[in-house]
Amino acid sequence: MVAKTWDKFSDERIALLHPKIREDAATLINTVEEKTGIKLRVTQGFRSFAEQDALYEQGRTKKGKIVTNAKGGESYHNYGLALDVCEIRGREAIWECDWKKIAPIAKGLGWEWGGDWKSFPDRPHFQKAFGKSEKQLLKLYEALGRGAKFVDVG
Ligand SMILES: [Zn+2]
Repeated sequence: MVAKTWDKFSDERIALLHPKIREDAATLINTVEEKTGIKLRVTQGFRSFAEQDALYEQGRTKKGKIVTNAKGGESYHNYGLALDVCEIRGREAIWECDWKKIAPIAKGLGWEWGGDWKSFPDRPHFQKAFGKSEKQLLKLYEALGRGAKFVDVG
């Protein structure tokens, strides 16, 4: 059983992540709340290849702002190994969070923070790569039977 967070929407999304990081995701939300009082919500977790492809088209062949440089298979979200967060304050979602407080806690728990990326900083994004590149994950994924969903990250 994965620990619960303060937020049922986060719990639902955490339950769809790679089994290896579900507990870590709940720990992240709960530790940030304990240490800072900031209530984070998981807004995105697992994303299928098709959903990723659709997101990639946003700002390219579809209207809107470009939000990703990753096509299907090129994002850790596609393997259930990444999550995005916002802060919930009252009934309001806050997208520019206090990352100076949140990021060090996450990194201390072994998460890689998208805000550290030089080319395309993605501050709401946290991932656990288990030392695997997206290319390596894609190879593992392609070796899976079509029924299997999550790659073995060791
Ligand atoms: Zn993300």
